[in-house]
Order: sequence, then structure tokens, then C-alpha cells
Amino acid sequence: MVFCRDRATGLHAIVAIHDTTLGPGLGGIRLRDYGAEHEALIDVLRLSEAMSLKASLAGLRFGGGKAVILGVPPPEARAELFRAMGRFIDSLGGRYIPTEDLGTYTADIETLRETSRYGVGVAEARGGGGDPSPMTAWGVICGIRAAIEAAGLPPGLGGKRVVVQGVGKVGMALVRYLAEAGAEVRASDVSTERLREAERLGARVVANENVHREPCDILAPCAVGALLNERTVPELRCRIVAGGANNQLEITEDDDRLQERAILYAPDFAINAGGLINVADELGEGGYSRSRALATTERIEPTLRRIFGESRRTGTPPGRIALRLARERIEQPRQRS
Ligand code: NAD
Repeated sequence: MVFCRDRATGLHAIVAIHDTTLGPGLGGIRLRDYGAEHEALIDVLRLSEAMSLKASLAGLRFGGGKAVILGVPPPEARAELFRAMGRFIDSLGGRYIPTEDLGTYTADIETLRETSRYGVGVAEARGGGGDPSPMTAWGVICGIRAAIEAAGLPPGLGGKRVVVQGVGKVGMALVRYLAEAGAEVRASDVSTERLREAERLGARVVANENVHREPCDILAPCAVGALLNERTVPELRCRIVAGGANNQLEITEDDDRLQERAILYAPDFAINAGGLINVADELGEGGYSRSRALATTERIEPTLRRIFGESRRTGTPPGRIALRLARERIEQPRQRS
């Protein structure tokens, strides 16, 4: 863990590198108004672990890392803040490679690259893959297909009711894909502006406080973590939980609670790997290739089929299966050495 404080810009950030067995820690920078430093610390630790698992399960040669910036700066101070963040990241010598996440954007990564040799998710005009969020959302669509099949629902998204919590970069792209596929989309958010945009794409707005209680086929968490917990799981009225948010379960046991209620859970770090795959591709042979990133992202569907299949055969909840598969790949090189 690296604590970053910069007096001149007021930057207060934490970088967490969770595991570098498979490669450098790759993961986004989250920018939020955290109540206290310990909240940010818990968030960054959990998120960095999720990145290790996600990269492993997606077959990437990267480890897990994540950064959080505490407090949203005024717009005029934003660029200097990201330049200061870039200096800290550069000093880590490539052990952590940042990209965007909740609250950060392609433009922030480009600013950060002015002071850091490391950073992916830059604009396509600059040889990068651009905003990874649409690829994340496409991966979620692939995962939803596998979940629909495993839950024994009629195939296809047409007519399925899907509730999307959080219509930000990932959630909005998901709403677009779902609407195009003929799904009946509901959306919630804390931002009315984002909701207006979702409505323009065909979604109907539902109250965010009770979003988990909305009757639907698929609940797609695409905002902050821990939507699924001891309080909310008994109140869910869906058949499938499949969304883009990181750390959807508050604790691992929430996976058991979902299984007890016969709700199929697509493990978050398995289904939301598209964005990571997209940014990792910038560092692949010959630079970014959209078709290669897309093909790798579409492997999310067979990966989830395998997870759901093993879950059905063994009675083990899907989240635990995904954890085991991801950890196995990280452990193997250690066992060999
Ligand atoms: P974003 O900041 O663009 O969007 C987040 C949206 O959630 C915003 O519209 C915001 O208003 C809303 N929101 C915030 N708090 C909320 C709350 N309590 N209830 C309802 N809505 C709330 O972020 P994003 O990049 O779309 O990321 C969304 C989630 O997906 C995060 O958990 C992120 O870690 C995860 N994720 C993102 C990517 C990616 O490619 N961007 C990849 C993998 C995982």
C-alpha cells in the first residue's frame, strides 16, 4: 500500500497492489467522497484483490492493483491533481498500471500520463483503446446470455425485464445494448441527469432506495459495491444477478444466501472483466487491437457457463467456484517455483 499526500494540490490517495504473480498490478483509479480514510482503505484493498481475481480468471498476464483518490476536486483543480497522482504512480516503476474507474475518465488518464510512464485506457486517437466501459458492458451482455441459459429462462434478451442500478459509463452502455436487444429496461441512479439520459435510451426510472426489490428477471448492479448483503438478499425479486459493479457481495457468505434463494449470481469479477481486457490489450503485442479485445471479452460467456455448470454439479455457489478458479491460476506459478 502506498499513501499519497501532496500538499500543493491537496491530493490524498491510496494505491494498493494486491498480487503481482501473474504480472504488474492493473486496475482503475476510483475517485469518491469517502467519509473517512479507513473507508477508502477498505475499498481499495477489496478492489485490488478483485482485480487480481479478475485478471487471473480472464487469462491475462496481469496482477491486481487499484487506487482511490479521496474527495472530488473542483473542476479547475482536477488536472493538477491527476498530474500529482501521475508522479506517485510513476515512482512505483510500473508495479501498478492505472486506468479509469468510478468517478474517473479517459481525459484524467491522459492528464496523468503527462507525469507518468504508466497508464492505460487512453483515447483511440492516441493509440489506446479509449473508454473501456462499453467493453465492460458488452462482457456483461455475454455473461447475461450464459446466466439466462443456466437459469433455464427462455433464450434471448427480448422481453426480459432488467433493472440496472447506476447508469454511469458502464450502466448506460449496458442500457443501450439491452434496449437494442429488446429488453424491458428499468434504471436507478442518484443522478437525475444520468436518469434522463437513460430514459432517452428507453429505460423506465425506478427508485434507487428500493432498487433491489424491483421485480425483474435480471438485476444488474452497475454502481457502487455491496448491493447484495444480509438485508437486501432476502428482499430480492429477481432470478439472476448479473451486472458490472465491482464487489457486489458485501461478504462472501452473501453468495450462499443467494443460492439458498435460488437466485443465480454471475460473479462480478468474472462478468465485468471486459474493461480490464480492453485496457490490458493496449500493452499486448503490436498495441491495441479492438477485434482481439472483443474476442477475449466474449470468452466471458464460456467462462461463466463453466462456472454455472460446476456450481450445478457440485452445489457450490458460483462465486466460490469463480474464486477457486481464479486463485488456482495465481497459485500455480508459485507451486512450480
Ligand atoms: P461511473 O462513475 O461512470 O458511474 C457510476 C454511476 O453510479 C453514476 O451514474 C453515479 O451517479 C451512480 N451512483 C453512484 N452511487 C450510487 C448509488 N449509491 N446508487 C445508485 N447509483 C449510484 O462508474 P463506472 O465506470 O460506470 O463504474 C460503475 C461500476 O462498475 C463500479 O463499481 C466500477 O468499479 C465497476 N467497473 C467499471 C468498469 C469500467 O470499465 N468503467 C470495469 C469494471 C467494473
